[in-house]
This record gives sequence, C-alpha cells and structure tokens, in this order.
Amino acid sequence: MVSEHYFFLKRIKDQSVNKFTSIVILLSVFIYSCKSVSVDTVSTVDEFEEVMKIVNPGDVITLKDGVWENSELEFYAIGTAEKPIKLTVENKGKVTLEGQSNIRISGEHLIVEGLVFRNGHTPTGEVISFKKDSENLCNNCRVTECVIDNYNPSERHDSDYWVGMYGKNNRFDHNYLVGKRNRGVTMAVRLNSTGSLENHHRIDHNYFGYRQLLGSNGGETLRIGTSHHSLKNSNTTVEDNYFEMCSGELEIISNKSCQNTFRNNTIFECKGTLTMRHGNETIVENNYLFGNGKANTGGIRIINETQTVRNNYCEGLTGYRFRSALTIMNGVPNSPINRYFQVKDSKASNNLLVNCDNIQFCAGSDAERSAVPVNTEMKNNIIYNTNKDEVFTVYDDISGINFEGNILSPNCLLPTNKGRNVSSGFEKKEITFKRVEGVLRPEGYDDIGPNSDKERPTAGNTGVSWYPNKDYTINFNTGKEIKAASGENTILEAVKSSSSGDVILLEAGGLYHQSKAVNIPHALTIKSDGDQPIITFERSSLFNIENGGSLSLEGLKISGDKCDDYAGNSVVRTSRYSMINNYKFLASDCDFVDLDVNHSFNVLRVFKNTFADSISLMNCTFDNITGHVLNLNKETEDIGIYNGENIIVENCRFNDIGGVAINLYRGGRDESTFGPILNLKSTTFNNVGNDKRNKEDSAVSLHGVQVADMNNLSFKNSKKLDMHLVVGEPVIKVRNTVFENSDGLTSNDDAYLKENVTMKRSQK
Ligand code: CA
Repeated sequence: MVSEHYFFLKRIKDQSVNKFTSIVILLSVFIYSCKSVSVDTVSTVDEFEEVMKIVNPGDVITLKDGVWENSELEFYAIGTAEKPIKLTVENKGKVTLEGQSNIRISGEHLIVEGLVFRNGHTPTGEVISFKKDSENLCNNCRVTECVIDNYNPSERHDSDYWVGMYGKNNRFDHNYLVGKRNRGVTMAVRLNSTGSLENHHRIDHNYFGYRQLLGSNGGETLRIGTSHHSLKNSNTTVEDNYFEMCSGELEIISNKSCQNTFRNNTIFECKGTLTMRHGNETIVENNYLFGNGKANTGGIRIINETQTVRNNYCEGLTGYRFRSALTIMNGVPNSPINRYFQVKDSKASNNLLVNCDNIQFCAGSDAERSAVPVNTEMKNNIIYNTNKDEVFTVYDDISGINFEGNILSPNCLLPTNKGRNVSSGFEKKEITFKRVEGVLRPEGYDDIGPNSDKERPTAGNTGVSWYPNKDYTINFNTGKEIKAASGENTILEAVKSSSSGDVILLEAGGLYHQSKAVNIPHALTIKSDGDQPIITFERSSLFNIENGGSLSLEGLKISGDKCDDYAGNSVVRTSRYSMINNYKFLASDCDFVDLDVNHSFNVLRVFKNTFADSISLMNCTFDNITGHVLNLNKETEDIGIYNGENIIVENCRFNDIGGVAINLYRGGRDESTFGPILNLKSTTFNNVGNDKRNKEDSAVSLHGVQVADMNNLSFKNSKKLDMHLVVGEPVIKVRNTVFENSDGLTSNDDAYLKENVTMKRSQK
C-alpha cells in the first residue's frame, strides 16, 4: 500500500536504521509496488500530496471521513485505460471539503468520486477544474458522484465556476450541483486551447438543482464554449441530466460551439432556455421541458446554422420573446462573432408543444438584427394549446421557413407573414392525449414527441443517492407559531428563538416597542392576531433583513414617532453588505405612519449588491414619510444589474411622501434578465415626491424596467410618473390613470400601451 510504504520508509529514515536494511526494504517495496494495486487512506492534504508523488496506475487514494477544511487537492497523475487512478472517499457523504477548498485534476485516466463541497467557496476561479494550468489539462478522466452545495463567496458579483471542463474525452456524471448564487456559470466546458477542442466530453446523469435569479448576466447553469471559440467543434454530449429550477438568467444552457448534442434531459420549472447562442450543427433531441405554468419558464431558442431540434417535449411553458417555448431568432448581417448569426439550414421537427404560451419567429428583429431565417424547416410538430389562441408571434419575414405537416389545436390562430396567414403547412385537428408516466402522448402520433425507450431523467435517477435533495426556495409560514406579548423588545426575543418559516404572532391591538433593532436571519412572518398592533422603535431601523433572511409583515401598524432624531432612518433595511441570498419582503394590511422625525426616513432601505426576489405591498397605507418607500436604485454602473425582480404594489395609499413611492433602476443594455417586473394596481398617490431632497423628481420612476402593468392609479399633487425604456422590448402598460395637479407621465419612448390616462388641473 503506497501510503504505508511511504510512511514506513519515512519512519525507517527517521530512525536511521542501517543503509543496507533500508536498501533491501526499498527494493522489496519497489518490487511489491510494481505488481500490486494499492489502496491508501489519507487524512490530511500533506499526506495526500506525499502519496501523489509515488502514485501508480491502478492505485486508489481514499480521503478519510471528516471535514476537510481549506483543502486544495492537486490530483495530477497518469493512469491507464486498464488501470485508472482513483480518488475516492472513505464513506460517501462523510467527507466534506469546506472553507476555501477545491480540486484540480490533470493527467490521464483519473477518477474522482464522492467529494462534497459545502460551507465555503473556492479560493480560485473553479471548484472542480479539469486542469492544473493552461498547459496541463485532463484527458480521459471522470468525475462522478460529487456534490457542490451552496458553495458561494459572500460577494454575489464575485465570479467563479463550480466546474470547469478542459481537455478531451472526460466524463462528468451522477453529480449533484445545487444552490449556486454568485455570478459565473455553474458548469463551463472550455475550448480555449487546442487541447480542449473536439473534446467528446460526456455530461450525463447529473442533477443540476435550484439556482436563484442572479439579476444580471452570468447566471447560466451550463455553457459549452464562448463566442470567441464558437466556430470550433466541441463534440460534447449532454444527456440524461435533470435541471430543476435553474433560473439564474435567460440562458439555462448556453451552447457556444459546434457539433454538440443535448439529448434526453429534463428541464423542470427553469426560468430560461436552452439557447443555441453561438456555433452550428447542434442536435437538441428528446428533451423534456416542464414549465408548470410558472412565469418565464422557457424552451428552446434557435440561432445560427444547421441546428436540429427534434422530438422534444414542452409542456406548460409561459415564457415569451427570447424565452418562448420555441424561438427562432433574427440574426445580424455579417455578424461579428459575439453577436447573432443568421438562422440557416435549421430544422425543428417532430416536437410536441402542449399548453405552451408562445412560439416566436424572427425574435429580436430590429435595425441591427435584420437577417431573417433562411432555408429553415418546421415540420411535423404538434402545437396544442386550448387555453390560448394566439400562440405564434412573427416579428419579420418568415418566408425562409418552410412549414410542413404541423398540427395545431383547432382554436390556434395561424402564424402570419406580412399580414397574411401562412396557409400551408398547418392542419387544425382535435387530438386525444393520454398522460403516461407524467408525459402527454398524442394518440396516433407515436413519432411526435420524445421516444420513451430511454428513461426520463428525474430527481430520483440523477445525481447521487446518498446526499439529501435541497430545497432552497424561500418559503414563509412553514414552521411553528411563536407568540410575542406586548412590551419592549418582545419581538426581538421571539425572533431570537425562531427558525426559518416560523410565524411570530402579535397580540391584537397590542403595543410593542423595540429599543433594539431586530435582525431577521431567515424567512419569518410577523403578524397580528386581530386588530392591528402598533409597533414603535428607536434605532435607525426596526427590521434588518440579513443575508438569508426574508420578511413578511401582516396586519401591523408601524410608527416612526419614537425614533431617534437622525436623518436616514428606515423601517426595514437589507444587510449593508453584499447578500449572496436573494430575499423577499412582503407587507399586507399594514400601515406605515409618521416616519418623519428627521429627513430621508425610508420604509425600505436597500444596499448595493442585494437582490429582492420579490417585494410585495398589498392593502397598505403609507402616511407622512420624509424619505422613500421603495427606492431600488443602488446599482449605478449601468451593466444590467439591479436590485429587485418582482415588485407588486396593489391597493395601497401613499400620502405625504417626501421621496419616491417606487423607484426601480436597471441601467445598461443587457438582455439576459427578465426584470425588474412591476405590477402596480389600484393605488393612490397624494402629495408624493415633493421633498427637495428627492433627486428623482418623480413619484414613481422606472428606469430599464422590462415589464410594468400599471392600472387604476390616481396621482394628486404629486411629482411625475417617469419611465425610461431601455432594451428588451419592454412590455409597459399604463391604463385608467388620472393625474390631478400632478406632473403627469413622461417617457423617453412611446413604445408602450397608454389607455385612458387623463390629466386634470384644479384649485389646489
Ligand atoms: Ca448569458
């Protein structure tokens, strides 16, 4: 056994036994080593490194059970096809690499098995790297049954990859990657040197788990290639993987090289798409995409040449534009390598799309992206949606797409070209579907949709069996109820004894005073047991949503009249530091009053590098406030980063607010995110925005917001509703809105729906 030999040799050296004995032992050890396969258990990185100096083909190195803190493993060795060298663990699940740990693999015929990375982050750019450095890559290696769980730095915009695949003929299989939160692709196949081209890697049976919205570009789950190397062949196969709620950004899978195959993967409730962003000759077949009606769940996006999309299954996908169930893009004439190549010679055939909201052709058509698809075919697909008639959107000339043998549900409208229905190539027909093992099968059309011979990937048959599946979605009201009696700091005491999902119940009509700020470390609901209790506080904030925290307030009255007399107080604030976890802040049936002890008193104060998954204000009143209510404008670099995704304000009343009621800011021209998304309904603004410190000079300011539905609003004696529409074909509606003695509605662009918007002037 190599390590025993090593330690034995070390010992005899230490004990200075005579040279002759040493040589005899050395020789016998050498002869023994040459003919045997050895198994070594190591318990420190130093021991591992010593073993690596004398490792032989066929050897197995075993990491001892326990926590390996700050352990950077350099697994550099040469095995053979018959005798690979294996790095494994004593017991799967009992070896965890924590703190600043990672592994680099280079050489030939190596196997890595059973590593778990958690409670920390990689000190380098990758957690698992298939290379030592740019010269020394890994070939014919396999990484299997490894776990990377929530292994993130504290800064959300510090970039890293969890897996960087280099070299050739490597396999990454049966791994579980869950909870990546910072910027950077979860797994990247790199083609940045000749040693990594035509790599024939296989990525299979992995479980790609929950990935939260990043709120910026750089949240892809799997990327193969980069635009720079995108016209080179990668020949990577991605099959039998399960992608679950991978919702970092628009691209879940970003194909950026040639001749890759994506086969028999399940993409479950992912808010994004499988995108053929760059590179040609991609095959996308037999994949299962389930949206379950969730917002922004996307499908397959075709760009470039000679792409084949066949026998895929899409159900319940709601996404539109670039994340439609099926998108065929427009390209840029003579496109630079990093823009959009024209779609040519591509095929979408035998796909089954059931209850998917959108199929879009020539998406992205604009002055730059003017090259329409050519010599492209859409044949023998079933598109069935009895809930929505208008499934097709056509942005440009689709005469370059040949339609043939497609079947539509009878209610579906035909796609149009230059205002005329595309008459041939579509047949409207009732079809009977039967659900078999979770998948709808159209009776009489066995060749349409995925072939059921192969097992469909699920959470159960991918990843590892010995590690628990993690649910990292933010959930309220899942825990116990804790009663907090009226009095001083009783809310704080209740929060201290709480766990995630708990509900803190306040006495009906109770009087609560906090002389200390309350840190919210996990998801908590604080609600009244009847009539609104009143909460007063002294410090610069009442609730601090710390990293990992989320807060729901129900039926409370919060008054600022006992606050310390400082400028810049707030009721709720986020962490002052980068929050790697997204948060939610919800308030319903709450009154926020008398936040006026000094200037710039906010309801919610957010800091840079924080991101709200959602903020919802329902049936709330805001009265007599010197600062802002929602001011989400801390990302000022104009690179597409912003502070919150879903903002819902419904049935609220804003009265005498010095600053803005709502300010959402997303600068730059990036197209890889969906938000911010605003739903603003049945709400009144009375004397809002008039404080001289309000730099926005608005009551509501929306900059770079991508979706805003505003309906039934009333502005009185208030500053303007200002919109700056940037990119992403924003979908903005302003309906049934009255501005009375107010500055009205302003916008840089009139590409939005304006309906029943009136201006009134009367005596103040
Ligand atoms: Ca992207």
